[in-house]
Amino acid sequence: MNNRTISHIIKPQLVIEGAGVLLRRSVSPRASNEYDPFLLFDHFAFNNPQEGPIRGFPMHPHRGIETVTYMLDGSVSHRDSLGNAGVIGAGDVQWMTSGRGIMHEEMPRRGESGNIYGFQLWVNLPAAQKMDQPRYQEVNSSSIPIIKKDGATIRLVAGELDGVNGPVTEIAAAPLYMDVKLDPASRFIYPIPSGHTTLAYVFEGAAEFGGQIVESVSMVVFNDDGGQIDFKSATGVQFMLISGAPFGEPIVPYGPFVMNTAEEIQQAIQDLRNGTFVK
Ligand code: MN
Repeated sequence: MNNRTISHIIKPQLVIEGAGVLLRRSVSPRASNEYDPFLLFDHFAFNNPQEGPIRGFPMHPHRGIETVTYMLDGSVSHRDSLGNAGVIGAGDVQWMTSGRGIMHEEMPRRGESGNIYGFQLWVNLPAAQKMDQPRYQEVNSSSIPIIKKDGATIRLVAGELDGVNGPVTEIAAAPLYMDVKLDPASRFIYPIPSGHTTLAYVFEGAAEFGGQIVESVSMVVFNDDGGQIDFKSATGVQFMLISGAPFGEPIVPYGPFVMNTAEEIQQAIQDLRNGTFVK
């Protein structure tokens, strides 16, 4: 089987979001929809308690997308217009399908180490599901399978590996989302279906993907030119592997909304004004 090669590498940009949260952003929603079905990838990394309180993301709406929060250190406390409230702790995942609309608040908190470290991925919804009822899948750290093989340690959030399935299911993009850690001098080969958009976010160490060395912190975008990806690391690496089936539909992003037409964006704004956004 051929190995997929690297198309390009994105260096994350620092951006300020919410009430003043500094993030590393490598993918942001654009009409060109280059990473279909993935819309956004943000990396929260606060490692200096001198930075003071983290202001977080006060109540805001979403429509037409799924937001996936995965924490490695610290936590995010959240509450929403459906009456859900809780804390996403280290190793936990929240997969939120906004459908037609939710309003929620997301407030990062430091862990015992003083650090906050995690990721938020946005996955698109197909036109036929953008106005569905919202849904949450809250996954506790203890229910994420850990697969160890040949110096690789994989936490499988969504998708399949060696007959094991991740706990997040029934997602339109049929995504793969896994946290992969490679020991020094190890190798991991993963088969990827043809046509699936595939990204790897390297956040610790360095690796060789398809013959090219990639240092953290980098978002690697793969070409659709092979049936597998061959990951090697001389010195050790940790990355998020993200893959999914593109929808091939036009998109119109507008802040926290991603719809298919400008009219649907206008409708979302009007629903917010009229108080009919959340039903
Ligand atoms: Mn949000």
